Amino acid sequence: MANPVPGKLTMEKLVSLCQRRGFIFPSSDIYGGLSGCWDYGPVGVELKRNIKEAWWRSIVQERDDMVGLDTSILMNSSVWEASGHVSSFSDPLVECKVCHLRWKADDLVENKCPACGGELTEERMFNTMFKTFIGPVEEEASVVYLRPETAQGMFVNFQNALNTSRKRLPFGVAQQGKAFRNEITTGNFIFRSREFEIMEFEYFVKPGTDKEWFDYWVEERFNWYVKLGIKKEHLGLYEHPRENLAHYARNCTDITYLFPHGQAELEGIANRTDFDLKQHGAASGKSVEYFDNETNEHYVPYIVEPSAGVDRAVLAFLCDAYDEEIVNDDLRVLFHFHPDIAPVKVAVLPLSRKENLAALAKDVHADLRPCFATQYDDTQAIGRRYRRQDELGTPFSVTIDFQSLEDKMATIRERDTLNQIRVPIPALRDTLQAKLAGEDLFVLPEGGQIWKQESSG
Ligand code: ATP
Repeated sequence: MANPVPGKLTMEKLVSLCQRRGFIFPSSDIYGGLSGCWDYGPVGVELKRNIKEAWWRSIVQERDDMVGLDTSILMNSSVWEASGHVSSFSDPLVECKVCHLRWKADDLVENKCPACGGELTEERMFNTMFKTFIGPVEEEASVVYLRPETAQGMFVNFQNALNTSRKRLPFGVAQQGKAFRNEITTGNFIFRSREFEIMEFEYFVKPGTDKEWFDYWVEERFNWYVKLGIKKEHLGLYEHPRENLAHYARNCTDITYLFPHGQAELEGIANRTDFDLKQHGAASGKSVEYFDNETNEHYVPYIVEPSAGVDRAVLAFLCDAYDEEIVNDDLRVLFHFHPDIAPVKVAVLPLSRKENLAALAKDVHADLRPCFATQYDDTQAIGRRYRRQDELGTPFSVTIDFQSLEDKMATIRERDTLNQIRVPIPALRDTLQAKLAGEDLFVLPEGGQIWKQESSG
């Protein structure tokens, strides 16, 4: 009954749908926006939180060898000097002598301005860290930076985390949080912005075992995306050639995704060796060594770092889940989100606003909402409401109709197949829980019935 529509997704369509349905808006929208900054709306914030929570569960809570941290955005400036960011976190930049637009030299195909064709200046290095001042006086001594990554907060807390958690190597420290980069060129929606979120961890290992752990984490992280519904054929691995590696890295492999603008980095996994700990050890004068009581050795651990952009993950999950199909001559737009990341899990839809029906639907809603992220919607025709839930990617809708008043049953409609079952209201909660965990829709609770496939929407 449903026919797929080929060649469906463009970034323009996605941006417009995200704005219309409350996923993502331009920052400071009423003032014309701010380039490279975005706001997450009522539905987008749920999607983003779910992605972060799925990551946190899999990286921190379900493992014995990992602990979490939440370090400050502003740090002592010595951190950024020791890390190399003050001297080398920069991009080569050129400026057009005619229109004065600035371009990242690496992005240019020809040696002229892409906007007006004008002549360009020589390359100049431009530090992409945002600078600000602590205290009332704007002077060099009070300069602080907005962190461009969350990693440094974890390196400098290595001993704190190790000693208080009483872990032994190999072990990791994970965190999620905002990062800021004064990117010269932003674009492709939330793919590259100036304020974004990172979820990353530092996995401390014995030198010599780093290669093995690097390979392990590349595979684990790749599989995490697949487990949450991203199609394997849309993902890729890109191994950076040695000559292009960042100053701290021994190996670096990107997990890439086929975004509408092309295959591009979603997450970077780097073998950072002992570079960061040694730098901080030398600059702070504090020990960064680990005592291995199995071998009676002191050494500085090596670090494997999988670093993922939360916003890029949001974009990848949106793109991968997006679908259009023709159902009975009508276009149906939907997101096939995995239940764990879907912003709304269950919608409760009374067929009418009539008092007795509304009372029953509200009771059903009150019973379900402690267990799931729900939405109650009693506006417009039922078909329109189904379409709206499809565009939010809601896996299940529960419809309360006039027959429900008689037989105390409700209909569950499945987003992806449009199949429906009829279930006794007291069994709704457990049934939905099972379906959200992956049970087939047609496995019925006692007293349940297979209903019909949605015909006209
Ligand atoms: P790119 O080459 O795309 O600039 P990068 O290699 O500088 O990225 P990392 O420093 O490895 O990126 O950052 C870790 C992750 O943070 C990236 O894999 C990406 O998902 C995300 N990220 C980096 N820069 C941005 C940005 N400007 N906007 C959104 N996400 C970003």
